Amino acid sequence: MAKYDYDLFVIGGGSGGVRASRVAAGLGKRVAIAEEYRFGGTCVIRGCVPKKLYVYASQFPEHFADAAGYGWTVPDAKFDWRTLVANKEREITRLEGIYRKNVEGAGGEIFHSRARLVDAHTIFIETEGRTVTADQILIATGGRPNPHEALPGREHCISSNEAFDLPELPKSIVIAGGGYIAVEFANIFHGLGVETTLVYRGLEILSRFDMDLRRGLHEAMEQKGIRIILQAVGEWVAKRPDGGLDILLSNGERLGADQFMLALGRLPNTENLGIEAAGVETGKIGEILVDAYSRTNVENIWAIGDVTNRVQLTPVAIHEAMCFVETAFKNNPTNPDHECIPTAVFSQPEIGTVGLSEDEACSRFEQIDIYRAAFRPMRNILAGRDEKMIMKLVVDHSTGQVVGAHVLGPDAGEMAQLLGISLKAGLTKDDFDRTMALHPTAAEELVTMYKPSYSVRNGKRVE
Ligand code: NDP
Repeated sequence: MAKYDYDLFVIGGGSGGVRASRVAAGLGKRVAIAEEYRFGGTCVIRGCVPKKLYVYASQFPEHFADAAGYGWTVPDAKFDWRTLVANKEREITRLEGIYRKNVEGAGGEIFHSRARLVDAHTIFIETEGRTVTADQILIATGGRPNPHEALPGREHCISSNEAFDLPELPKSIVIAGGGYIAVEFANIFHGLGVETTLVYRGLEILSRFDMDLRRGLHEAMEQKGIRIILQAVGEWVAKRPDGGLDILLSNGERLGADQFMLALGRLPNTENLGIEAAGVETGKIGEILVDAYSRTNVENIWAIGDVTNRVQLTPVAIHEAMCFVETAFKNNPTNPDHECIPTAVFSQPEIGTVGLSEDEACSRFEQIDIYRAAFRPMRNILAGRDEKMIMKLVVDHSTGQVVGAHVLGPDAGEMAQLLGISLKAGLTKDDFDRTMALHPTAAEELVTMYKPSYSVRNGKRVE
């Protein structure tokens, strides 16, 4: 008889957990997975997928406006929030079903329950009130929005979790934060006709991105009518008798809004998981500490995805899951590769980026060359839209290698995915130059910037 009930028990049915369960079960391993909420995790249920659907929804007013320049007369358009929420719900329910089917189809067993570690090989299944045992355990419980407990009145605020399912579309919203979620939702709400204000503590939004894109996006958002307040944070929030909110900012300004959304980063879900009982070590914000192979300090317990707070992106969690299966079940130790990850901010205009920003490159290389173009994409011309597209390549002068590629504009995310292959392959600026342009596209600019716009030598800009 087998020593344990399962070869693998996975806690958390998000992108990482589901992928690991499915692939391990496909290898003939006896696999179980527990999920207390809905299969699909943050990405499918209240993250990437519904977000992208809402981005599409919010882009229509600009399409309608642009249509006039192409000869179309569009009758007065009306938007119904509840239809969007209901259609989004139908789509994520469909995807949720696919996730579950994939696990079951591969032979995995599903528990709709919270699961808690009792010791290194024992898991308590709450809804069933019993324990099961497993040889290997994978924690893939993801993260949750930072609740910002220190903010007086925080109980009146919403996070991205609630933003998708608000009973009514607010007339006005204030969003705190300057990262992916704050910026994406500011554009979504503005596009849907909500008076939107973004409040960020730093000098410029999107602190982890190239400064040209940060400034370019900031300008474009303001031009559309989004108010951006920098170097300020919320001091307190209070509810008015009419249900609206009063918000005091650290710069002394007082704002009124129907909703105040906090998008101040995400925290790992490691509470009430029994990790102390199993002896698993955690870090400063509760993240599970793992080695290069996603193994915790306890030999048979592993962790992947947002709960490890390495890189909080869905494809990274999926990649970590694949590497985990290789390591734990295929006798092929494989460490996830976190270098050079393409990423997009689905703002309007969109950001797509891969590799090093100009500032990061300057701190790593003595000599870099910058190729930069800013232009109106063709579709904006007849539309009468001023919005500019920015493309930028960051090149290590000594080797010619393109170490960063940054795009602001329509379809920037799609471009970043493909640029990711070139940068991952270590291609040089000469390789870009040898590539034939595809005309007329916006992306052709990436292979037709022949002369550096400027160079940086030992941190100093040289024209
Ligand atoms: P981010 O880490 O992107 O941004 C958090 C923002 O909150 C930053 O601007 C940060 O400021 C600010 N902040 C943090 N703490 C405080 C505080 N106490 N007071 C004031 N401001 C504060 O997190 P998000 O919540 O936007 O998103 C979480 C993660 O989800 C992202 O990191 C990303 O990995 C992932 N994600 C990816 C998306 C995509 O791929 N398109 C979309 C959405 C999310 P500062 O910059 O100064 O530190």
